[in-house]
Amino acid sequence: MFDALMVTKDEESGKTSAAVTQIELDQLPAGEVTVAVEYSTVNYKDGLCIGPGGGLVRNYPHIPGIDFAGTVEASDDDRYKPRDKVVLTGWRVGEAHWGGYSQKARVRADWLVPLPKGLDTRQAMAVGTAGFTAMLAVMALEDHGLKTGHGPVLVTGAAGGVGSVAVAILAALGHEVAGVTGRPETSDYLKALGASQIVARDEINETVKRPLEGETWAGCIDAVGGAMLARVLGQMKYSASVAAVGLAGGAALPATVIPFLLRGVNLLGIDSVMQPYDNRLRAWERVAKDLPMAKLEDMVVPATLKDLPQLGKDILNGQVRGRVVVDVN
Ligand code: NDP
Repeated sequence: MFDALMVTKDEESGKTSAAVTQIELDQLPAGEVTVAVEYSTVNYKDGLCIGPGGGLVRNYPHIPGIDFAGTVEASDDDRYKPRDKVVLTGWRVGEAHWGGYSQKARVRADWLVPLPKGLDTRQAMAVGTAGFTAMLAVMALEDHGLKTGHGPVLVTGAAGGVGSVAVAILAALGHEVAGVTGRPETSDYLKALGASQIVARDEINETVKRPLEGETWAGCIDAVGGAMLARVLGQMKYSASVAAVGLAGGAALPATVIPFLLRGVNLLGIDSVMQPYDNRLRAWERVAKDLPMAKLEDMVVPATLKDLPQLGKDILNGQVRGRVVVDVN
């Protein structure tokens, strides 16, 4: 028997509830590799899956946790053997498949990545899906021409998980970084991660009034979407790119096409879930190289399985700062 955070649904009321429960190995879903999970994290999607599901969870009872790191315990696949250290993000684990909020997980070998050199399992989950996605966004901006010296790079939802890691990586790479936050009390934290400018959320969250404003940002990593993304598009420098990562502020995009047509602005979509294996390896290697571990440590909020029901609510309310690392043991 081992511990897992299990979400159950009352069929009559349709209400879900989450609690730490003891389960057996036989209850785990099919898969080639069984992992003794060491750490998981709390991402925005986890908030949905711990709570009412947000349309992501198909079947109950369910074990959430969209990412985890741990040690292989048993494997029917040649690529992994017992004692290998592994990381998993994406592939709808924790949504359609049981996830990392459990002391053991069984998954497909294709979904795993060997623990990147230079990171331990705790650091890998301090990065987690949010940080991995921030790295994908940085790589996409670079692939589209972003270089240091081009000007400030804007990060929206800066004090959140994606935002915090994006700020730290961009600053470590030598970029001037501006962070948008709705929580002024996080200014010192964001400056310590490397932001040189703090933009108040209200300043940039208004509906687009003019399709083009002054050319301000050399790049943007956007975790917020909605009106903020629409506004930012009109503030980009000529030919600059915005990496669209999230929708913490809304899924609509009340924008005009003018920034694309008159300024050659690029809107780059970032998906971490279905990323091919080779690009996953490339992103994790870049994380190990370009994210200063002391800065990563500053973002960490430690937690255990029993803290998750509350943390799920907190992240949906935009109240989590940085990266929660869940020690499942
Ligand atoms: P967090 O909750 O940690 O961060 C989101 C941040 O956005 C908050 O901390 C807050 O930052 C800001 N924010 C929250 N609500 C609003 C609002 N109404 N208006 C404006 N800003 C707001 O979540 P994550 O960092 O884990 O995820 C961020 C987004 O990225 C989510 O939408 C998530 O689903 C998405 N995501 C997408 C992935 C992909 O593959 N594309 C992978 C991982 C995440 P502040 O307080 O500083 O303003």
